[in-house]
Amino acid sequence: MKNEDISRRSFLKRLGIGGAVLATPSLVSCGSKDSGYTPEDGPIPTDKMTLRENPNTHDKVSILGYGCMRWPRKTVKNDKGEDEEVLDQDQINKLVAFAMEHGVNYYDTSPAYCRGKSEEATGIALSKHDRKKYYIATKLSNFSPTTWSHEAGVEMFENSLKYLQTDYIDYYLLHCIGQHSQTLDGQPLNGMEALHARFLDNGMLDWCVEQKKKGRIRNLGWSYHGDVEVVDYLLKLHDEGKYHWDFVQIQLNYIDWSHAKEVNEANTDAEYLLGELKKRGIPAVIMEPLLGGRLAKVPEFVAKKMYKMRPNKSIASWAFRYAGTFPETLTVLSGMTYMEHLEDNLRSYCPLEPCTEEEVNMLYQAAVEILKNPFISCTDCKYCMPCPYGIDIPAIFAHYNKCVNDDHYNHTQEDPKYREARRAFLVGYDRSVPKLRQASHCIGCGECKSHCPQSIDIPRELHRIDQYVESLKTKQ
Ligand code: SF4
Ligand code: SF4
Repeated sequence: MKNEDISRRSFLKRLGIGGAVLATPSLVSCGSKDSGYTPEDGPIPTDKMTLRENPNTHDKVSILGYGCMRWPRKTVKNDKGEDEEVLDQDQINKLVAFAMEHGVNYYDTSPAYCRGKSEEATGIALSKHDRKKYYIATKLSNFSPTTWSHEAGVEMFENSLKYLQTDYIDYYLLHCIGQHSQTLDGQPLNGMEALHARFLDNGMLDWCVEQKKKGRIRNLGWSYHGDVEVVDYLLKLHDEGKYHWDFVQIQLNYIDWSHAKEVNEANTDAEYLLGELKKRGIPAVIMEPLLGGRLAKVPEFVAKKMYKMRPNKSIASWAFRYAGTFPETLTVLSGMTYMEHLEDNLRSYCPLEPCTEEEVNMLYQAAVEILKNPFISCTDCKYCMPCPYGIDIPAIFAHYNKCVNDDHYNHTQEDPKYREARRAFLVGYDRSVPKLRQASHCIGCGECKSHCPQSIDIPRELHRIDQYVESLKTKQ
């Protein structure tokens, strides 16, 4: 089915959001009480998390999934007496304990997250809880050509089991199919070529299927960024019965629904992706519901509209409710670094109040307004890090996006707002990014570029930001 075949309105109708909230048989709630809870009334309930049923294994999965790629950090002294950033295990344990207590039972990690430390930290935190009470998702994150051999792939899986302190993975993903790559000697590979090199020609996909038969993998799927041909190819294999996909992880939010290409030429509209999964009854795991945090802070007039419709509800809550509204959504991943993120998300999902048609239409109008701003589509995934020259790429893009959002970007000297905007950009830049890690130190080597799932031309954007900073410095 083509993108244009599913009009937004007919899609909403097929969802059953005809001005009323959604009702679906696969949507169940832990609690027996009604859903009249409003978060501002008091503490977050522990028995009202909305659950979705996986049709394959009948797992009852919490609609809020914990994305373990942004665990909190702290600074400690290393053996040489130097400051070193490490994951804050005590805080991670507390976050996981609070999430478990409130019904979050899906934890999504990867060997690539938190510079390779996420699986271990997640495993330590989860090991304090009954293994039967949570689902672990992790990935074959063999991005580097040095990990494309069968042996290296198997080793990655076995290490995941070890770090996560388990003997089976509930949800195992081929990580980032569709993404371009390059061979050890620098030959570029498109999405299909990378799929062959990483998963097919080395027998890793067949090996994963074997592990599923042995019960070491319970559900097998993939996450997607990049060439849509790869999605179509893998779904064709599913249709032909050559492989069975138990779930698929896609990027979905109210901008990417039908504007994905405007954000990033290499992305695909969520409307198409979800439509394809729906046709086949494949549950969707949703990533980037907040588009890397951009939908937590929207332009002021959009925010006003949101507060008018749902007073006292956070801006972020709109994005989470939207992502959970689709019945095909198994779980919505959120990388919750701080307790307030977790609490806010719990308030959105304990239980979920699906968006009405009026609300969804408001969000689609908001998407058009938000897109008028020249954001960089960085989702803070940190796959591009570390830069060998120390550049803090995501922090630079986060500061830039914040200034764009706060209307502190690109004013002419004649504009009365110029001085305020100039000050906010320059002072905020020095506060958020140490001088030695700023864009001016990027040498344009391009090493980071192929790692970015959003296909951002990182050196070009850094150069553009650096030139903008220089122009501000020279024009008072
Ligand atoms: S292009 Fe710039 S940011 Fe990217 S790796 Fe090279 S120096 Fe670092
Ligand atoms: S620039 Fe790309 S790879 Fe780096 S953090 Fe942003 S989205 Fe991720």
